[in-house]
Amino acid sequence: MARRNEERVMSTEKKIALISGANKGIGFETARQLGKQGITILLGARDLAKGQAAAEQLKKEGVDARAVKLDVVKPDDVKAATESVANEFGKLDILINNAGVMLEPIGGNTTTTVSEETLRDTFETNFFSAVSMTNAFLPLLKKSDAGRIVNVSSILGSLALHAAEGSPIYEAKALAYDASKAALNAYTIHLAHDLKGTKIKVNSAHPGWVKTDMGTDAAPMEIVDGAKTEVQLATLGADGPTGGFFHLGEAISW
Ligand code: NDP
Repeated sequence: MARRNEERVMSTEKKIALISGANKGIGFETARQLGKQGITILLGARDLAKGQAAAEQLKKEGVDARAVKLDVVKPDDVKAATESVANEFGKLDILINNAGVMLEPIGGNTTTTVSEETLRDTFETNFFSAVSMTNAFLPLLKKSDAGRIVNVSSILGSLALHAAEGSPIYEAKALAYDASKAALNAYTIHLAHDLKGTKIKVNSAHPGWVKTDMGTDAAPMEIVDGAKTEVQLATLGADGPTGGFFHLGEAISW
């Protein structure tokens, strides 16, 4: 019994990170980079088999990685994941709301062509699920000495840059995706305000335009670099920012 308690104390001293949509892409690489810092990684995946394969890969690289069945738009999955983290670790140090979808093409007259279904489905994953995941895990994040929440947004969520003719994203309009990430950014600001005076920091990340299934091969950034912003914001020190929007340490216009 004493030994089991000892093991539990030892395990809770290690940092625990949960990353949604971590079976591939930027989420998977973020898991790898955080795991190599000695952080225990819970790889969220809506398809458990894909999550397990990803966890096996990371274990071979020396990372303490475990797969968690987590479709972020399914309340039962979120509840089960919360209970399992509570039972096994009793806290969560890092929550990365990374799962995301882009269901429409970029560019063109997307305000008139995008379907209401696409708008709703995009918001469900990119915005509402980040709110419900955060609400579910907040009690466990409050038990951490230094809780960190990273909302994986996009420069395409920047209202200021979309409004500025000539900005790098001015022509890259995709209403459902862009608006969902702008809403996510609003959530970051509001949540940071709510969490003022706590040890928890929350920030929005723009990974860059990254070579993934979403970013396509046309993207200029390799995944190894695309994960860096999430990793930085997940491991901010006590003097780090909260309520900001960053890409590789540089602030981005809201
Ligand atoms: P990928 O398409 O490679 O990966 C997306 C991940 O999200 C997959 O693991 C996918 O799971 C998962 N996912 C989607 N819906 C759900 C859901 N309902 N529940 C759980 N997981 C889900 O994309 P990226 O790695 O490129 O994107 C990661 C994040 O970075 C996203 O939030 C994206 O918007 C953002 N981003 C990406 C950019 C880029 O250039 N790549 C640029 C700016 C932001 P599955 O494998 O089952 O589909």
